[in-house]
Amino acid sequence: MDWTDEAIARLRALWDEGHSTAEIGRRMSVSKNAVVGKAHRLNLPARPSPIRRDAAATARAAAPRRVTGPTLPPLPASLEEAPAPEVVLPPPPVVPVRAVQPPAPRPIPAPLRAVAASRSRNLTCCWPIGEPGTKSFRFCDADAASGKPYCGEHAQLAYVKVRDRRDEAAA
Ligand SMILES: [Zn+2]
Repeated sequence: MDWTDEAIARLRALWDEGHSTAEIGRRMSVSKNAVVGKAHRLNLPARPSPIRRDAAATARAAAPRRVTGPTLPPLPASLEEAPAPEVVLPPPPVVPVRAVQPPAPRPIPAPLRAVAASRSRNLTCCWPIGEPGTKSFRFCDADAASGKPYCGEHAQLAYVKVRDRRDEAAA
């Protein structure tokens, strides 16, 4: 390509009109490479080809996304990292917990429950009668003296016994 002043002027004109290098080449009957090379030597402003313009537009469109990008990616990343340990961890604890739990609920023995109930209500004597743990074992169940867990008779026994022990301890 012989770049005459006229040709150079035409290239500048077409270049300024914003035609692509391929279009300029077609109009001037030169190869696109010749247009690009001459434009480069003339220091013409960068003329993005249609493809490059799309790329630039894509980059510009992507730019806003990249601005928010730095904040967004870490969130999903941290979220993905967080659930991972949780998914792995639960199985181990669940097995031992289930193994330990079954023996835990121990029903309170009926006699003890009766004691607790009568003591809380303070209505009947809680004096134990018989051998604890045997079928004959029971509580007095007589009306308790007010303010005491035993009936009058058993309350006397209880406090006499305490007094006796004190006397023995003192002697
Ligand atoms: Zn009693």
